Amino acid sequence: MNDRPSSVRNKIAQLRATFVEQLPGRLSDARCHFDAAKANPNDREAAASLHRFLHSIKGTGNSFGFKDLGAAAAQGEHLAGKLLENPVSVTPEFWLDLNECLSNMALCIEVLQDFGAAPSQGDRTATFEMPLDAGAVQEESNDKLIYVCEDESLQAEHLGEQLRCFGYQAVLFNNTEDFRRAVLEEQPAAAIMDIMFPEGDSAGANVLIDLRNNHGKLFPTVFISGRRDFNARLRAIRAGGEAYFPKPVKAMDLVVTLDLLTRQSEPEPFRVLVVDDEPEIAQYHSLILENAGMATQVVHDPECVLDVVGEFRPDLVLMDMYMPKCSGREAAKLIRQIPDFVGLPIVFLSSETDTKKQFSAMTVGAEGFLTKPIQPEDLVTEVALRAERMRTLRALMARDSLTGLFNHTTTTQLLENSLTAARRQDGQLSFAMIDLDRFKAVNDTYGHPTGDQVLLALARVLQQRLRNSDLVGRYGGEEFAVILNDASLEKAKQIMEHLREDFSKVVFNVGDAKFSCTFSCGVASFPHAGDAENIREAADKALYQAKHAGRNRVVAYE
Ligand code: GH3
Ligand code: MG
Ligand code: MG
Repeated sequence: MNDRPSSVRNKIAQLRATFVEQLPGRLSDARCHFDAAKANPNDREAAASLHRFLHSIKGTGNSFGFKDLGAAAAQGEHLAGKLLENPVSVTPEFWLDLNECLSNMALCIEVLQDFGAAPSQGDRTATFEMPLDAGAVQEESNDKLIYVCEDESLQAEHLGEQLRCFGYQAVLFNNTEDFRRAVLEEQPAAAIMDIMFPEGDSAGANVLIDLRNNHGKLFPTVFISGRRDFNARLRAIRAGGEAYFPKPVKAMDLVVTLDLLTRQSEPEPFRVLVVDDEPEIAQYHSLILENAGMATQVVHDPECVLDVVGEFRPDLVLMDMYMPKCSGREAAKLIRQIPDFVGLPIVFLSSETDTKKQFSAMTVGAEGFLTKPIQPEDLVTEVALRAERMRTLRALMARDSLTGLFNHTTTTQLLENSLTAARRQDGQLSFAMIDLDRFKAVNDTYGHPTGDQVLLALARVLQQRLRNSDLVGRYGGEEFAVILNDASLEKAKQIMEHLREDFSKVVFNVGDAKFSCTFSCGVASFPHAGDAENIREAADKALYQAKHAGRNRVVAYE
């Protein structure tokens, strides 16, 4: 995944060396183009190749810190540009000047080869350090360990049972000494702590203060207490409590708090597609981004861009401007013409400094224009900012505003995607449709806001209890859908059974009233059912059967 800085430095040194090694060959090709153009100034092909060569040596040379080489190439690029624009205007001096540029470049190349590809002074390409370890591996199990320390055993047991329904593994302690010993053996993801115990009025707070003093940073703690007064709350704050709930505590409130406190907010790394015909410079930029924790893919041939964009699904494309087959501007246009990629941010990264040309490139709907050479930190910042914005927008559009689950459109799209993947890998997949039982009655009896709480609770149970590879969507008002990747019909039925049982045990409180809710579920699977439409229909039929057979059950479509 991420490399230590020294190994990144090694890789950059290697890219540099490869670039330098190839320079003599490329320069001699350029000389051929020069000769052809000089013999026939109207030979557009030769002039264009020469211009492209000089442009790309300017960009890559400067990016790798070869300032003299970059400067000589820049001068040559300027001249070759004139030749391209107006071939008839060139004078004999013009050819002398251009020839001198090539000779200067040859000198620089000689020096580079003699002294190895060591960077020139003041060059910063090799000295950057990035924060490491941005993409940690997610844990397999969703169950997070929670210690509940509470001397009223019945309350504690009830709480533990409720937490378990939401994907927390609750371990109960009825005294502070057992709790302390357990903490010393294994720290939980969070703790729920009473304040008053028979062993002391503030024993719950004291044990935490003591642990923190002796062992430094601790897990987050939520206090629950029979007291509502200022002093009790203050004591909890001083013991490092992140939240305070007076008893009786609603399990749902605790769950919401625990979700926030224990969220492993390791976001998916940004995905960046680097398009550049120069392999070394493409690798160089990709290395910088990967070292900052991003995932990258490199494309040298613009012809492959559409395929790779479709498969890699980048958050952002970093696009070179001048490439042999088509320009960056054209490649950007190509991408933009695919409806799915209309919103994909494209950022040009080029040594083009002519603002008119930059502006023209931007008119295809690019997100920005960065000039080579760019400082690694700047590249990372610019890319991260734009990718982040894209992520946020995409997430807002794809999700249901009440539950935060994928909305109907996105769920449908995800089912199609999962099916394509399953087909390609000869794999399997199950699809579950869920509908709350007699939900109208909940709204009618307790009011719409309470109904919303039930929807939220179901969303949370589904999200917490399912594997990371499963996808949960809100399909309609009180209907939910789950895509269980790589799960057989039997396995999916079993998983949904567990969820059904868990959810039916969740207790909702409205004033003094308590109630529970259930759902019915229909499951269908691929390859039993052939396509997305088939699967949805089959799951829907199974759901109908479940309702008909008395609700609160899971039916698999046979
Ligand atoms: P069944 O067991 O047959 O599914 O009965 P039901 O009452 O759940 O089914 P019905 O389709 O008759 O009622 C669904 C109810 O879901 C009606 C609607 O008011 C409610 N509902 C839909 N969306 C929301 C929402 O966002 N919030 C709340 N509170 N209620 C919603
Ligand atoms: Mg319904
Ligand atoms: Mg219903």
